[in-house]
Amino acid sequence: MPPKIADIIEHDVCAACGACEAVCPIGAVTVKKAAEIRDPNNPELYRKGAAYEVCEGCLTCSRVCPVVDGFREDELANVRKFFAAKAAASAGSQDGGVTSAIVKTLFKKGEIDCAIGISRNEAWETELVIMTSAEDVENVRGTKYTSDPVLKILRQAFEKYNRIAVVGVPCQVHGARLIQENFNEKIVVIIGLLCMESFHHDVMLEKIIPEILQVKIKDIEKMEFTKGKFWVYTKAGEVHKVPIKEVARYARNPCHHCCDYTSVFADISVGSVGAPDGWNSVFIRTDAGEKYFEMVKEDLELMEDPKPGLELVQKLIGMKRKGNAEHYLEVCEKFSFKAAGIH
Ligand SMILES: Cc1cc2nc3c(=O)[nH]c(=O)nc-3n(C[C@H](O)[C@H](O)[C@H](O)COP(=O)(O)OP(=O)(O)OC[C@H]3O[C@@H](n4cnc5c(N)ncnc54)[C@H](O)[C@@H]3O)c2cc1C
Ligand code: SF4
Ligand code: SF4
Ligand code: SF4
Repeated sequence: MPPKIADIIEHDVCAACGACEAVCPIGAVTVKKAAEIRDPNNPELYRKGAAYEVCEGCLTCSRVCPVVDGFREDELANVRKFFAAKAAASAGSQDGGVTSAIVKTLFKKGEIDCAIGISRNEAWETELVIMTSAEDVENVRGTKYTSDPVLKILRQAFEKYNRIAVVGVPCQVHGARLIQENFNEKIVVIIGLLCMESFHHDVMLEKIIPEILQVKIKDIEKMEFTKGKFWVYTKAGEVHKVPIKEVARYARNPCHHCCDYTSVFADISVGSVGAPDGWNSVFIRTDAGEKYFEMVKEDLELMEDPKPGLELVQKLIGMKRKGNAEHYLEVCEKFSFKAAGIH
């Protein structure tokens, strides 16, 4: 019997988190734009869906797949603390630099051996990285709105390191939590970003930036989705913007089926929505989140009861679910297994 992820791939709802590639015992999964199952010894044998003849049917991949697992009904139910924060050193970061500051401080205090993240070059081409020092964290600052299967790099990280920090968007965070709970306890802290959608590289670099924004990709210093618009800031100081609705329809198909906005499976979630400009919104969700945040908070400025606060976060959760929940339930009907649905 094919693994459940074959259905996820077939119906184009694979979030490309990379979890299945990280754990498949025979190395039969490769994740690029989506997961592919193939013969690790003979990639020529690949065909769309699954090369079932090589798959051992162990179902390891299905147990770590966030789309198979489904979504939580109330994603703020496990939030123990909510506040805003910003780091003293946030240059190059997307918002308040809290994500980078947490990882840096955990390295400096010797609490983690490695962290996984995504760097980019001038052309906004990305690379998955295993950071092993506070200095390495500088290379991954800033949001890339393109999608990369960051969890796949855990396959290498598990071989060498024992205390691993994961940073990712909600689908990746969910995959990381399922790996941690089911297979590998080397992940010690999971930091989740808020996420409305992401884009395939070719769509962002060949359509949205040159055609819709009419900007050269190499001129861009920062991209940002905020206040109803997609903003692009150039190195020369120009600001270009378009309404989000002009670009959102080009988001990846799995993002139109996704019902996790705030990384509900994270230990600590970090975003911008809910906090003032230049600050991060921070959500502490677990014992590990409390423990690690306590260790790093001396490097952060904190703001209790920030505005616009959780009310705006809740509104955006609703906006993301509107349409997406229906799409997800529709696709669940087509699966050959009984999907969890939104539970
Ligand atoms: C695709 C995407 C969509 C987002 N949408 C929203 C949103 O709707 N609302 C909101 O409040 N916040 C959103 N965010 C989060 C926001 O952009 C910031 O990442 C967050 O506020 C943390 O800011 P920071 O200054 O602490 O990050 P920084 O200190 O700049 O650290 C950035 C971290 O993000 C990681 N990263 C960058 N790009 C990616 C990626 N594509 N996939 C996985 N990891 C990545 C880096 O490895 C690094 O660890 C989104 C992020 C992404 C990646
Ligand atoms: S069922 Fe097992 S062997 Fe087959 S792709 Fe999934 S993890 Fe790999
Ligand atoms: S685990 Fe992630 S990459 Fe693999 S099939 Fe599921 S969503 Fe896709
Ligand atoms: S919306 Fe964000 S979390 Fe959901 S599948 Fe897309 S990238 Fe992943």
